[in-house]
This record gives sequence, structure tokens and C-alpha cells, in this order.
Amino acid sequence: MGKKNKQFVEKVTAMEDDFAQWYTDVVKQADLVDYGLVRGTMIIKPYGYAIWENIRNELDKMIKETGHSNVAFPIFIPESLLQKEKDHVEGFAPEVAWVTHGGDEELAERIAVRPTSEALFCDYYSKNIHSYRDLPMLYNQWANVVRWEKTTRPFLRSSEFHWQEGHTAHATDEDASIETERMLGVYADLVENYLAIPVLKGRKTDKEKFAGANYTLTIESLMHDGRALQSGTSHHFGSGFAEAFDITYLDENGESQYVHQTSWGLSTRIMGGLIMVHGDNRGLVVPPRIAPTQVMIVPIAQHKEGVLDKAYDLRDQLKEVARVDIDASDKSPGWKFNEHEMKGVPIRVEIGPKDIENEQVVIVRRDTGEKEFVALKDLQARIGALLADIQQNLFDKALAHRNEKINIATTLEEFKQTLDEKTGFIKAMWCGDQACEEKIKEDTQATSRCIPFEQEKISDTCVCCGKEAKELVYWGKAY
Ligand SMILES: [Zn+2]
Repeated sequence: MGKKNKQFVEKVTAMEDDFAQWYTDVVKQADLVDYGLVRGTMIIKPYGYAIWENIRNELDKMIKETGHSNVAFPIFIPESLLQKEKDHVEGFAPEVAWVTHGGDEELAERIAVRPTSEALFCDYYSKNIHSYRDLPMLYNQWANVVRWEKTTRPFLRSSEFHWQEGHTAHATDEDASIETERMLGVYADLVENYLAIPVLKGRKTDKEKFAGANYTLTIESLMHDGRALQSGTSHHFGSGFAEAFDITYLDENGESQYVHQTSWGLSTRIMGGLIMVHGDNRGLVVPPRIAPTQVMIVPIAQHKEGVLDKAYDLRDQLKEVARVDIDASDKSPGWKFNEHEMKGVPIRVEIGPKDIENEQVVIVRRDTGEKEFVALKDLQARIGALLADIQQNLFDKALAHRNEKINIATTLEEFKQTLDEKTGFIKAMWCGDQACEEKIKEDTQATSRCIPFEQEKISDTCVCCGKEAKELVYWGKAY
């Protein structure tokens, strides 16, 4: 490795030395974001936004395929409207940014910049749902929201972030339950099959559920450092919001009924997950299915006659099977290798005069660093197969890592000792009492991540109080 290339790589702190700094370095060096002028805000740069757009496009397709329509609601919520559902406003009050002036004039009523849009959708539903024939109402919006966070990090926790929020209204509680589960399934599908991140599916405890919800379903994933990330949530509201906002419909017998609602969201936070699950000391690793560029062609000795022509030929040929680009800039090949490795491009194709002579190219895969020679005539097929293989390998690696980091505890002592010695999830039984959940958090900083759908019985008693256990819970330190 030349001196110049070495310096480039050295800009990224080794993740073993300082994981938080490694994250910050990768975000910066892979050209994903810049810091905004107001503390905690971020500028998502072209490469970061291109990845987000690919995630967004896949999710948008799934949302539409499940019968939802996209809409755009205002960014402002009158304070009186936000106040209508007590738990909801209490949950969000500390993070709301308020508009108090319009120009020079002080407003008669403060206006919230949306931290989430339940209140607006509820108000709309109360005016636009009349009969059972209007149901279900299945809306989704792609939006930015503002939450005035105290400590912020790019993607993981920012004062403003981008997401989609689905808001639906149904005739029955059961219909709302089916919807809540269906959308959690959509999130799990997206995150596992496109982002190659394995998830645990489950329910949040009452302490951790969404403010105003009956219950919250969640997908939880595990980062490389052994900390958990809540990666998408789907909330069942029952008729709580409907009662607060007076959203009723006339059923088939002409009787007035409250609607039953859900909401669900997945945000740019998942970009943080992507970085922390697949990244390594050479930078980002992007799964092929969401990579803006799947194959980067780097010409070698490109000043020599015929090299660039051949490289462009290759690009045109590969366009049929992959999102392909060519780096014909005047930087050295070594510099280009590092640059595209830093950005996590799944496959690099090198072609130089000698390769042209031998009718072959060199292929290097980002996930393993493995290098192979491929005959030009076999290239299309090989690239297609390799992209699928890389996608699968990233998922398998992440799954093995996560499973390796699922620990078990049956007593609080064991729980603490495990946290001292290891990272990752802790599986432990719980009595269902919030006091135990709070004590665990206070003593260990670990929070309940989810009550998994797939339950097991690893002991008879609660890990905290020793009383009879009700269910298995995954615990962990989280982002
Ligand atoms: Zn207990």
C-alpha cells in the first residue's frame, strides 16, 4: 500500500479502539452527512441520500402494495390540537419545538412543529370519516419531523429526521391489530431482505410503548458493538385517540362507533443501523440490494490506448445486470480503490491493458476482500451471482454475530455480571411488574427491548424480584 493510500485509511479510527469515533469517521469519510447549523440537525449529502432513497423506494412499494395511499399533511400542529390526547402530549412535550411568532406578530396560539402527526391525522379523520363505507382509511406520508433532542448523533438521534409515518383507521379493534402486525411484517421484510439486518420481532413493554398507544410492536437489531437499535415500530391505538378526537362512524345498523387506529414509522435512523451492522475498519459496506452503485469499474493505466474504451464497453454491458458506474477520474487506482471501499460499493471491477489482452477482468468483493479473475464472456453472469452472494453473506454474518451475542440470565446478579463481561442482548424472564423493569434499568442501564413473539421459558421466576415469571424479555443497552 502506497503512503498516500495508507493515510486515507488512517482517517478512520479502528472500531475496536473507539466504536463511537469509528462511526463518526465513517459517516464523514463515506460522504454521507454533514452537520447542520442548528445543533443536532444534519445535511444528508448525495451519497447518503441515494442510499436512503433506495431504502425508501423499496418501502414505498411495499406500503402501496398493502393498500395504502401517500398523502402530505402540514408541518404545523396547533397547540390545542396536540393537547387533546393526554398521554400523547405528555410523551412528546419535552421534545417539541414551538413557533411563537409569524413575522413580527406574536401568535395567539403556539404552533408545534410536528414531532409526529397523530393529532393532525386524527383531526382529519374526525371530519372525513362518516360511515363504515369510509373504512379502512389507509394513509401514509413521507415527511420530516422535529424532536428537540439533548444529545444527538447523525442518523441515530437528530433534532430533525426523515421518515414515513403510516396512519390508519379501521372499523374494529381486530382489523387494527391485523394492520399493526402486517406493517411490522413489512418492516421486518425490508430490513432483513434489503438491508441484510436480522431482526427480533416482538412487543414493547408498557413502559417503552408509544405515548398514547394500546401497545407497540417493534423490530430490534443488534449493532456490531453489541448495542441494540430499535429499527421500526408499529402501534395499535385501539379507540383511545378516537375517543379523544371524537372519530366515529355509523356502522351497518346505523349505530355510532369509534374507529380503531394504528400508526407506524421507519426513519433515517435505520441508516445508522446499516453503518453499524455491516461497516468495518475500511469504511461502509452497503448491501447490494440498496447500494446506489453495485459495481464500480476502475480502469488501470487508463491513459493507455483502448483501456477507457473497453471500460466504457464493460459498463454498458453490465448495465443490464447491475447499477454500474465507472471512475475515470485522474486519481490513482489505489486512491480509487480506497474511496469506493470507504463508500461500501459491493463489487470493484479492474480492467487494464494486460486484462484486455487476456480477455478478462479482476473482480474484488467489498464484504470479504476476495479477488478473482473472470473471463469477459462470463462477466455478466458472474456479477449477477456475486451480488446475490454478497447480499446473503452480509445477512448470514450479521445473524451469526447477533446469535453469538444473545446471553441468558436468571438472577439479577447474573444479569449484572453478564453485562460487565459481555455485550449484546440478555434473555431473561420477567414478572410483568414495571418496578422490576425500572430497577433493572437503574442498576444496569439496560432497557427492555422487546417481549419476543417467539417465547421460551428459561426459568420460572422473574430475573429481578424472584416472583413468578410471566414472559421472556430481551434486554440490552440501546442506541
Ligand atoms: Zn419481577
